[in-house]
Amino acid sequence: MPRYEFRCRACGATFEVKRPMARAGEPASCPQGHADTVKLLSTVAVTGRGGGGSGAPSEPAAGGCCGGGCGC
Ligand SMILES: [Zn+2]
Repeated sequence: MPRYEFRCRACGATFEVKRPMARAGEPASCPQGHADTVKLLSTVAVTGRGGGGSGAPSEPAAGGCCGGGCGC
């Protein structure tokens, strides 16, 4: 479940709220009970780095018969 970070404008506290994405836009009240809060950036973990890396496998070159000195 994603977490959303809020900041209370009344007391300045920041707090996290876990809620389903469908309710992401709903206001949250501060742990102290203040209702005047603003939503900060969501702290949803971003996964999925592509995992690049040098990947091209070296193709076998010059195989078979005519690669060498067989004279065909
Ligand atoms: Zn507060």
